[in-house]
Amino acid sequence: MEFKYCPTCGEKLIKKEIGDEGFVSYCNHCQRPWFNVSYSTIIALVVNEKDEVLLLKQDYVIKDSCVLVAGYYKEKETLEQTAKREVYEETGQEVIDLQYVQSYYHDKNDLIISGYIAKVQAKPLLKSIEVDELKWVKSTEAQQYLKFGSIAHKLLISYLEKRGEI
Ligand SMILES: [Zn+2]
Repeated sequence: MEFKYCPTCGEKLIKKEIGDEGFVSYCNHCQRPWFNVSYSTIIALVVNEKDEVLLLKQDYVIKDSCVLVAGYYKEKETLEQTAKREVYEETGQEVIDLQYVQSYYHDKNDLIISGYIAKVQAKPLLKSIEVDELKWVKSTEAQQYLKFGSIAHKLLISYLEKRGEI
């Protein structure tokens, strides 16, 4: 997202050359640059002690496939806190180990998405109102439920590759 007006004072921004950054949106009134930003989000593959992964049905996101836990960063969190909070809010599972995998850029919604593997000891599933259904599926059988080529699918593949499953 590119700022056109100053978020602080509302003045129209100009383009100013700033060192190595090149031309950047700049507020003459506040005398500061406003760099382009993307929303920061997380996606988490929740894995239990039996090597099952937790799949979500969220009809408002996609009708015919499952998705993984995902959500927006909240101000003053670390991304690890965001991941743990979202896993708990959407599934009722407490993360005991969190491993960063890689980040992904989602062009359509201008999101930068940090991908994690979230290890849990399976507890009773508690879904949020945003979730229609939750189910544990053996990790090696989970691919068929995720949309091919989606970020959720890529994250699962990374997990299976690390485990030497594929
Ligand atoms: Zn300003």
